[in-house]
Amino acid sequence: MLTTWLEIDLGAIQHNYHLLQAISQRPVMAVIKANAYGHGISGVVPALTRVGATWCGVARIEEALEVRRFSREIQVLVLGYTHPFWVEKALAQDICLTVFDSQTAEAYAKRAQAIGCELRVHAKVDTGMGRLGVLPDAAVDFIRWLMTLPGLKVEGLYTHFARADESNPAPTLEQIRRFDGILETLTIMNLRPRWVHASNSAAIFNFPQARYDLVRAGIALYGLHPSPETPLPPSFRPAMALKARLVSIKTLPPGSGVGYGHRYVTQDHERIGVVAAGYADGIRRILGNEVLIHGKKAPVLGTPCMDQIMVQLDDVIEAMPGDEVVIFGGQGGNFISVEEVARRWGTINYEVVTNMMARLPRIYV
Ligand code: PLP
Repeated sequence: MLTTWLEIDLGAIQHNYHLLQAISQRPVMAVIKANAYGHGISGVVPALTRVGATWCGVARIEEALEVRRFSREIQVLVLGYTHPFWVEKALAQDICLTVFDSQTAEAYAKRAQAIGCELRVHAKVDTGMGRLGVLPDAAVDFIRWLMTLPGLKVEGLYTHFARADESNPAPTLEQIRRFDGILETLTIMNLRPRWVHASNSAAIFNFPQARYDLVRAGIALYGLHPSPETPLPPSFRPAMALKARLVSIKTLPPGSGVGYGHRYVTQDHERIGVVAAGYADGIRRILGNEVLIHGKKAPVLGTPCMDQIMVQLDDVIEAMPGDEVVIFGGQGGNFISVEEVARRWGTINYEVVTNMMARLPRIYV
């Protein structure tokens, strides 16, 4: 019997994957960095391979190696930096790396050549994110040079959008213009790599002209909205719920302090429940949290503790120790969305789900 857990609806992730394929009409690279946005690589990778996913993207080589524990077949691209030290491992596990500077590319090529192999790489261009990538002016020369390096196989070319989720399309259109300029030249020179990609979840919806050869979907795969300005169609289903048990109930007399710092003091005789989830599970340590018990919203009193929160049960008289409490997710026809929690915490849904702690068992349903 679990006390505190994440419930992950793998069927929802598979359903969202199919929707993204249907909408984009492209292969979908499932972005599963940060432990599949908190949902758990061990559940998400097998679920995706069961529905025929051919590509996934991670941030780090360690995550790529974790993916390989669950699938030998799925193609894996490391979207972030990888030290050349890892080249032999990447070759042995058939992992694609990203290249964005000549020094690292040369080091990769040398190590791959030394063992008589070709390392699969995707070149990254910075068209306006101000993050990883060669600048547009240098991109064509960089790619042409990369293609001359024995030991490297340049299979892909990509960029990343900074503002595709916003209602103003201008910044993304400018990024697309720069990327298309590079592609045009490469095509004329017969140097266009096999896999050209740019779109994140928001761009799949907002910029159909930027779908190229595949799209890279993270947040939408998990049924979460790219932003308030780019909500998902209602057919998408959120996959994650955070749940815990009510472990104790008692009535405190008026004037009783609740929790560290007594940030809540009872006004009357109040029925207080203790729920076994806290900030060390990923709940933000702020005032004003809410949960669902018996499908009803109940306020969290004071600030969350490390492993517990206290809730006001005066309006949930039927509550009993052992009952299921939903911190986000659905219960009894009511729902607390990850987006609602993100607003309360002053952050975005991406941060809420990726901050769910490792100690939470992921229960796949
Ligand atoms: N591509 C890259 C390079 C990324 O870093 C990310 C995530 O931040 C994605 C794609 C997926 O983005 P999203 O979760 O908005 O779909």
